[in-house]
Amino acid sequence: MLSINNNFYAYALTVFLCSFIGFISKYFYKKLATSYTIQLFGKMLTRVKTGDKVVALTYDDGPNSPYTEKLLNVLKDVQVKATFFVIGKQLERNLATAQRMLAEGHELGNHSYSHTKLINQKLSVIRSEITKTDEIISALGVNSNIHFRAPLGLKRIRLPWELARRNKTNILWDVDPQDYKEQSPDQIANFVAHNVKPGSIILLHDGGGNRSRTVIATKMIVEQLHAKGYQFKTISELVTLKT
Ligand SMILES: [Zn+2]
Repeated sequence: MLSINNNFYAYALTVFLCSFIGFISKYFYKKLATSYTIQLFGKMLTRVKTGDKVVALTYDDGPNSPYTEKLLNVLKDVQVKATFFVIGKQLERNLATAQRMLAEGHELGNHSYSHTKLINQKLSVIRSEITKTDEIISALGVNSNIHFRAPLGLKRIRLPWELARRNKTNILWDVDPQDYKEQSPDQIANFVAHNVKPGSIILLHDGGGNRSRTVIATKMIVEQLHAKGYQFKTISELVTLKT
């Protein structure tokens, strides 16, 4: 009788442990895609730890005419350099705008070729998405290390593995005013002004639709942060300050 009971408890415990481990593994597997603190391979950066009052403005998903050009006009006006995480396909259609970005001191980063989610893709697709855009950026005369930002910030196992192999850091962000939603320029700028810290990386978008609000918000962000004593750096400049 005793042994039947023991067998039953052992069986119940095994079932419980297996379900528990299954649940935890599933949770972590899911969490890995969007975690800004854990990445299995290579490096990921959401902010640079520094005491200096510096931040980086980053713009994703362009170039996107006419908003990118309008944005470049604003940045020129306020004498601020930004980093553009471009989509290869968009870049091919807007080479003159990309040349202007470089001529005016901005940095170009790689945001994949087609902006497809790379979390569940085969390694061959991930490689081609990174290589194709790197090649277009290099053809524009960029010789230094080209930074990468995962489409939608999503990554799990193969993408970090491939980035680590190429010695590339996955550049994410710590300030996301969600300019891709229905936000007014005021809301975008106020969110940024209230959430930046020294070394912050600010996520904005020049691509993916009508970005008039982001263009207006950019001027407000620069004015508000200048008033707080902040300076603007490109990602390459910011990472050199890393302690
Ligand atoms: Zn994007």
